[in-house]
Amino acid sequence: MPYKEDDYLSLSGIQHFEFCRRQWALIHIEQQWEENLRTVEGHLLHTRAHDSLKTETRNDIIITRGMPVFSAELGIYGVCDVVEFHRSDNGALLYGRDGKYLPYPTEYKRGRPKSNDIDILQLTAQAMCLEEMLCCEVKSGFLFYGETRHRYEVNFTNELKDKVRKRFNEMHQYYHRRYTPKVKISKQCKGCSLQHICLPMLGKKSVNDYINSMIKEGTSEKTT
Ligand code: SF4
Repeated sequence: MPYKEDDYLSLSGIQHFEFCRRQWALIHIEQQWEENLRTVEGHLLHTRAHDSLKTETRNDIIITRGMPVFSAELGIYGVCDVVEFHRSDNGALLYGRDGKYLPYPTEYKRGRPKSNDIDILQLTAQAMCLEEMLCCEVKSGFLFYGETRHRYEVNFTNELKDKVRKRFNEMHQYYHRRYTPKVKISKQCKGCSLQHICLPMLGKKSVNDYINSMIKEGTSEKTT
Protein backbone atom coordinates (compact mmCIF):
# COMPACT_ATOMS: atom_id res chain seq x y z
CA MET A 1 0.00 0.00 0.00
CA PRO A 2 1.41 3.47 -0.90
CA TYR A 3 2.55 5.69 1.98
CA LYS A 4 0.83 8.98 2.75
CA GLU A 5 2.93 12.06 1.89
CA ASP A 6 3.10 13.05 5.58
CA ASP A 7 4.92 9.80 6.27
CA TYR A 8 7.59 10.17 3.58
CA LEU A 9 11.19 9.84 4.80
CA SER A 10 14.32 11.44 3.38
CA LEU A 11 15.81 9.27 0.64
CA SER A 12 19.38 10.20 1.56
CA GLY A 13 18.76 8.82 5.06
CA ILE A 14 19.44 5.34 3.68
CA GLN A 15 23.17 6.19 3.82
CA HIS A 16 22.94 7.00 7.55
CA PHE A 17 20.78 3.94 8.22
CA GLU A 18 23.17 1.59 6.44
CA PHE A 19 26.16 3.20 8.19
CA CYS A 20 24.58 2.88 11.65
CA ARG A 21 20.91 2.61 12.57
CA ARG A 22 21.48 4.68 15.70
CA GLN A 23 23.07 7.47 13.66
CA TRP A 24 20.05 7.54 11.37
CA ALA A 25 17.64 7.68 14.32
CA LEU A 26 19.62 10.48 16.00
CA ILE A 27 19.49 12.56 12.80
CA HIS A 28 16.06 11.75 11.43
CA ILE A 29 14.00 10.98 14.54
CA GLU A 30 15.73 13.06 17.23
CA GLN A 31 16.79 15.82 14.78
CA GLN A 32 20.39 15.91 16.06
CA TRP A 33 23.08 16.88 13.60
CA GLU A 34 26.75 17.68 13.91
CA GLU A 35 29.00 18.80 11.08
CA ASN A 36 32.44 17.32 10.70
CA LEU A 37 34.97 17.81 7.93
CA ARG A 38 33.54 15.00 5.82
CA THR A 39 29.94 16.18 5.95
CA VAL A 40 30.97 19.79 5.15
CA GLU A 41 33.03 18.64 2.15
CA GLY A 42 30.13 16.44 1.04
CA HIS A 43 27.69 19.38 1.22
CA LEU A 44 30.04 21.58 -0.84
CA LEU A 45 30.32 18.94 -3.55
CA HIS A 46 26.53 18.57 -3.68
CA THR A 47 25.98 22.33 -3.73
CA ARG A 48 28.31 22.59 -6.70
CA ALA A 49 26.39 19.82 -8.48
CA HIS A 50 23.03 21.51 -7.76
CA ASP A 51 24.13 25.11 -8.38
CA SER A 52 25.12 24.77 -12.00
CA LEU A 53 22.70 25.35 -14.86
CA LYS A 54 19.52 23.39 -14.11
CA THR A 55 19.16 21.76 -17.52
CA GLU A 56 21.36 21.53 -20.58
CA THR A 57 21.20 19.47 -23.75
CA ARG A 58 24.17 17.80 -25.40
CA ASN A 59 23.30 16.02 -28.64
CA ASP A 60 20.73 13.35 -27.66
CA ILE A 61 21.30 13.74 -23.91
CA ILE A 62 19.42 16.10 -21.58
CA ILE A 63 21.24 16.79 -18.30
CA THR A 64 19.14 17.95 -15.34
CA ARG A 65 20.59 19.04 -11.98
CA GLY A 66 18.92 19.03 -8.58
CA MET A 67 15.85 17.06 -9.71
CA PRO A 68 13.32 16.39 -6.90
CA VAL A 69 12.12 12.77 -6.79
CA PHE A 70 9.73 10.70 -4.68
CA SER A 71 8.22 7.25 -4.36
CA ALA A 72 4.83 6.52 -2.79
CA GLU A 73 5.68 2.80 -2.75
CA LEU A 74 8.84 3.36 -0.68
CA GLY A 75 7.46 6.41 1.16
CA ILE A 76 10.47 8.61 0.38
CA TYR A 77 11.42 11.94 -1.17
CA GLY A 78 14.79 13.35 -2.19
CA VAL A 79 16.84 15.17 -4.80
CA CYS A 80 19.02 13.65 -7.52
CA ASP A 81 22.31 15.51 -8.00
CA VAL A 82 22.16 14.92 -11.76
CA VAL A 83 19.86 12.94 -14.04
CA GLU A 84 20.96 12.30 -17.60
CA PHE A 85 18.12 11.55 -20.01
CA HIS A 86 19.37 9.53 -22.99
CA ARG A 87 17.18 9.36 -26.08
CA SER A 88 15.78 5.81 -26.37
CA ASP A 89 12.66 4.12 -27.76
CA ASN A 90 12.34 2.29 -24.41
CA GLY A 91 12.28 5.53 -22.48
CA ALA A 92 9.59 7.87 -21.19
CA LEU A 93 7.95 10.88 -22.80
CA LEU A 94 9.21 14.17 -21.35
CA TYR A 95 7.11 17.31 -21.25
CA GLY A 96 8.08 19.74 -24.06
CA ARG A 97 10.53 17.29 -25.70
CA ASP A 98 10.27 15.20 -28.82
CA GLY A 99 10.94 11.47 -28.59
CA LYS A 100 11.46 9.26 -25.57
CA TYR A 101 14.25 9.35 -22.99
CA LEU A 102 15.73 6.90 -20.47
CA PRO A 103 16.88 8.42 -17.17
CA TYR A 104 20.34 7.69 -15.68
CA PRO A 105 20.73 9.11 -12.13
CA THR A 106 24.21 10.32 -11.14
CA GLU A 107 25.27 10.96 -7.55
CA TYR A 108 28.34 13.02 -6.56
CA LYS A 109 30.43 11.85 -3.62
CA ARG A 110 33.54 13.14 -1.96
CA GLY A 111 36.36 10.62 -1.44
CA ARG A 112 36.66 7.37 -3.29
CA PRO A 113 34.48 4.28 -3.86
CA LYS A 114 33.60 2.54 -0.59
CA SER A 115 34.01 -1.11 0.31
CA ASN A 116 30.31 -1.26 1.30
CA ASP A 117 27.21 -0.60 -0.83
CA ILE A 118 25.93 2.51 1.02
CA ASP A 119 26.28 4.84 -2.00
CA ILE A 120 24.96 2.18 -4.37
CA LEU A 121 21.79 1.76 -2.27
CA GLN A 122 21.16 5.52 -2.29
CA LEU A 123 21.53 5.63 -6.07
CA THR A 124 19.27 2.58 -6.45
CA ALA A 125 16.59 4.33 -4.36
CA GLN A 126 16.82 7.33 -6.72
CA ALA A 127 16.41 4.99 -9.71
CA MET A 128 13.34 3.39 -8.11
CA CYS A 129 11.79 6.84 -7.61
CA LEU A 130 12.45 7.71 -11.26
CA GLU A 131 10.91 4.42 -12.39
CA GLU A 132 7.74 5.12 -10.42
CA MET A 133 7.52 8.76 -11.52
CA LEU A 134 8.24 8.20 -15.21
CA CYS A 135 6.81 4.67 -15.67
CA CYS A 136 9.92 3.26 -17.30
CA GLU A 137 12.71 0.88 -16.37
CA VAL A 138 15.91 2.50 -15.09
CA LYS A 139 18.65 -0.02 -15.69
CA SER A 140 21.77 1.83 -14.59
CA GLY A 141 23.20 5.04 -13.19
CA PHE A 142 26.55 6.51 -12.10
CA LEU A 143 28.48 7.36 -8.94
CA PHE A 144 31.06 10.12 -9.34
CA TYR A 145 33.83 10.37 -6.72
CA GLY A 146 35.63 13.67 -6.08
CA GLU A 147 38.94 12.08 -5.09
CA THR A 148 39.31 9.78 -8.09
CA ARG A 149 37.52 12.21 -10.46
CA HIS A 150 35.97 9.16 -12.05
CA ARG A 151 32.42 7.93 -12.48
CA TYR A 152 31.42 4.31 -11.98
CA GLU A 153 28.42 2.63 -13.56
CA VAL A 154 25.94 0.87 -11.25
CA ASN A 155 23.45 -1.71 -12.56
CA PHE A 156 20.20 -1.74 -10.62
CA THR A 157 19.67 -5.46 -10.01
CA ASN A 158 16.56 -6.97 -8.39
CA GLU A 159 18.72 -7.87 -5.36
CA LEU A 160 19.67 -4.21 -4.88
CA LYS A 161 16.05 -3.10 -5.25
CA ASP A 162 14.90 -5.72 -2.70
CA LYS A 163 17.53 -4.49 -0.25
CA VAL A 164 16.37 -0.88 -0.71
CA ARG A 165 12.73 -1.93 -0.08
CA LYS A 166 13.72 -3.80 3.09
CA ARG A 167 15.80 -0.90 4.43
CA PHE A 168 13.05 1.70 3.94
CA ASN A 169 10.47 -0.67 5.37
CA GLU A 170 12.64 -1.01 8.49
CA MET A 171 13.19 2.77 8.64
CA HIS A 172 9.44 3.41 8.52
CA GLN A 173 8.94 0.97 11.39
CA TYR A 174 11.63 2.69 13.50
CA TYR A 175 10.18 6.09 12.66
CA HIS A 176 6.64 5.04 13.49
CA ARG A 177 7.81 3.80 16.93
CA ARG A 178 10.19 6.78 17.37
CA TYR A 179 12.79 4.13 18.15
CA THR A 180 16.48 5.05 18.59
CA PRO A 181 18.65 1.92 18.89
CA LYS A 182 21.22 1.71 21.68
CA VAL A 183 24.94 2.32 21.10
CA LYS A 184 26.69 -0.54 19.33
CA ILE A 185 30.39 0.26 19.21
CA SER A 186 31.96 -0.55 15.86
CA LYS A 187 34.85 0.68 13.72
CA GLN A 188 32.39 3.16 12.16
CA CYS A 189 32.25 5.17 15.42
CA LYS A 190 35.70 6.67 14.78
CA GLY A 191 34.60 8.50 11.61
CA CYS A 192 31.02 9.15 12.76
CA SER A 193 29.83 12.77 12.58
CA LEU A 194 27.61 12.23 15.64
CA GLN A 195 30.06 10.65 18.07
CA HIS A 196 29.94 13.69 20.40
CA ILE A 197 26.17 13.43 20.61
CA CYS A 198 25.93 9.64 20.62
CA LEU A 199 28.77 9.21 23.18
CA PRO A 200 29.74 5.66 22.17
CA MET A 201 32.39 5.68 24.93
CA LEU A 202 29.50 5.38 27.37
CA GLY A 203 29.21 1.83 26.09
CA LYS A 204 27.09 -0.19 28.48
CA LYS A 205 27.72 2.22 31.38
CA SER A 206 24.85 4.26 32.77
CA VAL A 207 25.14 8.04 32.42
CA ASN A 208 25.75 8.27 36.22
CA ASP A 209 28.58 5.73 36.08
CA TYR A 210 30.09 7.57 33.12
CA ILE A 211 29.95 10.98 34.86
CA ASN A 212 31.42 9.48 38.05
CA SER A 213 34.30 7.90 36.11
CA MET A 214 34.96 11.25 34.37
CA ILE A 215 35.02 13.05 37.76
CA LYS A 216 37.37 10.39 39.13
CA GLU A 217 39.67 10.78 36.10
CA GLY A 218 39.68 14.59 36.55
CA THR A 219 40.47 14.30 40.26
CA SER A 220 43.33 11.84 39.74
CA GLU A 221 44.79 14.08 36.98
CA LYS A 222 44.86 17.02 39.42
CA THR A 223 46.58 15.03 42.17
CA THR A 224 49.31 13.63 39.88
S1 SF4 B 1 29.16 6.95 17.33
FE1 SF4 B 1 29.00 4.81 16.65
S2 SF4 B 1 27.12 3.98 17.61
FE2 SF4 B 1 27.06 6.23 17.77
S3 SF4 B 1 25.87 6.87 16.02
FE3 SF4 B 1 28.00 6.96 15.42
S4 SF4 B 1 28.48 4.99 14.47
FE4 SF4 B 1 26.54 4.78 15.61
